[in-house]
Amino acid sequence: MGRVRFVQSASRWDQFPDGKMPQVAIAGRSNSGKSSFINCLANQKIAKVSGTPGKTRLLNIFDVEQRFWLVDMPGYGYAARSHSERGDWEKMIEDYLVNCENLKGLILLMDIRRKWSEDESVLLDFCAAQGLKIVVGLTKGDKLSRSKWKSQVLLMEKELGVPCFALSSLKNWGIRDIIGLVLREWI
Ligand code: GDP
Repeated sequence: MGRVRFVQSASRWDQFPDGKMPQVAIAGRSNSGKSSFINCLANQKIAKVSGTPGKTRLLNIFDVEQRFWLVDMPGYGYAARSHSERGDWEKMIEDYLVNCENLKGLILLMDIRRKWSEDESVLLDFCAAQGLKIVVGLTKGDKLSRSKWKSQVLLMEKELGVPCFALSSLKNWGIRDIIGLVLREWI
C-alpha cells in the first residue's frame, strides 16, 4: 500500500479540513481489529491497539495515498440503547453519515468468528438507506482454516447482500482487496 498518514482528529465532521477529498468511514465494535487494520494498511502504528477502550470520542482522519480519507468512528453503533437514549455522539455520527457529501461509503469490520448482530444490522441498514456503499471486512481470518473462512465469506455475502472479504492484519492479507474495491468502485 502507498502512503497512509494520520491527518487529524475532529469532534464533528463539519470541522474537517476544507477540501473535496472523498471519504470512507470505518466502523467496528471494540476488539474487532479496527486499529490493527489501520496499522497494517499504514504499515506502522498510527492507530491505537486495544487494551484501553478509547473514551475519547473523536473522528480520526487518515489519508490513504492522497486518494481518500479513511475516517475512523470509534465506538459508533455498539451500545444497546433505544432511539431516545442515543447520545450526542450517535447523533453527531448520524449527521455525518446523512449530510457529508464527500462520504462515499462504509467499511464495517467484524471478527470472522462472531455472529452477525443487531448492532451491525442497524448500522448497515442506516448506511444503505443513505445510499452509501458498504463492504464488510471479516477480521482475524488467520484464526480459521482456509476452507472455513471461505465458506464464512460466502455465507455472509448471501445473508447481507454486500461484498464481504476475509482478512488478516496479523498475516497481512485481504486488506488490499478491500481498499482495491474502494479505489475502483467508490471514489
Ligand atoms: P480494535 O479494538 O477494534 O481496534 O481491535 P484491535 O486492532 O486492537 O485488535 C483486538 C485484538 O485482536 C488484539 O489483541 C489484536 O492483536 C487482535 N487482532 C487484530 N487483528 C488480528 C488478526 O488479523 N489476526 C489475529 N490473530 N489477531 C488479530
